[in-house]
Amino acid sequence: MSRIVFRGANLLDGEGPARPETTVIVENERILRVSDQAVEARDSDRLIELAGRTLMPGLISSHFHSTYDGITLMPQPLGLEHPPGYMMLLAANNARRALECGFTSVISAGAISDDIDAQLKLAIDNGVVPGPRLMAGSRGFDTTGGYTDTASGWWQLANPGAARFCDGPDGFRKGVREELARGAEIIKLFASGGHGVADAVTASPISEPEVRAAAETAHQRGFKVRAHCAWRHTLLECVGAGVDVIDHGDGMDTECLDAMLEAGTFLVPGLYFVKKLLEDTGNFMGATPAQTESVRAEFENAQRMLPVAQKAGLPICVGDDYGVMNLPHGSYAEELEFYVEDVGIAPLEVIRWATRNGAELMGRADELGTVAEGKLADLLVVDGDPSHDIAVLQHSEAFHAILKGGEFVKDVL
Ligand SMILES: [Zn+2]
Repeated sequence: MSRIVFRGANLLDGEGPARPETTVIVENERILRVSDQAVEARDSDRLIELAGRTLMPGLISSHFHSTYDGITLMPQPLGLEHPPGYMMLLAANNARRALECGFTSVISAGAISDDIDAQLKLAIDNGVVPGPRLMAGSRGFDTTGGYTDTASGWWQLANPGAARFCDGPDGFRKGVREELARGAEIIKLFASGGHGVADAVTASPISEPEVRAAAETAHQRGFKVRAHCAWRHTLLECVGAGVDVIDHGDGMDTECLDAMLEAGTFLVPGLYFVKKLLEDTGNFMGATPAQTESVRAEFENAQRMLPVAQKAGLPICVGDDYGVMNLPHGSYAEELEFYVEDVGIAPLEVIRWATRNGAELMGRADELGTVAEGKLADLLVVDGDPSHDIAVLQHSEAFHAILKGGEFVKDVL
């Protein structure tokens, strides 16, 4: 049996503080042993002396749009920028990039028509193209005339791209079942506007019975529902209706936090996107100065609430709208430093968001997210200690190793 013995690791296991001088043995696709002793290697083992380099779990992005690429304000609906084959090539390229950046798993926050995510997942799992473990997303559910149904045009009659318009609880039930049947593993709802985009409308585009129907239908088949949800009142409605993951939550207050804690809801803030928007002084998204101020106020609220939520024990995950404007695919780890420097979260906590919590959101905490005996060997070897300087995770070109399921994706050891 092929074994890899990492000796002298500074182990960040995804749970606790760094453990120097740790030995980790990988056998085939799994972690066989984690020991604070310098375990002897067998002749047939590949022995790797890490000499204090950090060994840690592969990173997990909990908000990933495989097809986003240089998205700006576009005349055409999202997801129809190019024909389907071209979109798949973009998605495959972005998946490879995520893996090369040390993200060994990604959770879709919304796919496009033609089941791009589900098909990409299949191609990755079958070894056709390199990529992370991909939890495939559905199209983003909305209602006729809802938040994303603003660019009415002939093309939407046949193919709404990244959006799927349903009406009434029965419409949502059928829509959810169809997306699941076509390979989606997590359902996305566009439950509110907001999150960086100033808007005049404040009525929830999806009604509470529709959200509840979507959540019940997905749960019945063993899948989770996530909702783009920035507004306070919509957030409360979504959590009450059974949504498992709140994306963004910019308008969150302590009442929202209590409701989420009570329900066991995950939060994926994706707040770095808004920071980048606010830094873009060139009239971002066509907003007026007054609208920009409302976005800034929401941003500052989220900045204030995140440490409170973290302290209260809310499961928070990383991931953002990479592929949009100032947030290119490949810049994933900048977000980690942002949560440390601009939001005041300890690096070790942000590492947990990016490892253990992501695995929990995937429903695979028994196999992924931490370095522990019996788990899949999705691992990184990096210089320095990210629990002291999280910025080292941005330099993926300097990573010494990336392993997915015990196989080297990158090996410069
Ligand atoms: Zn998104």
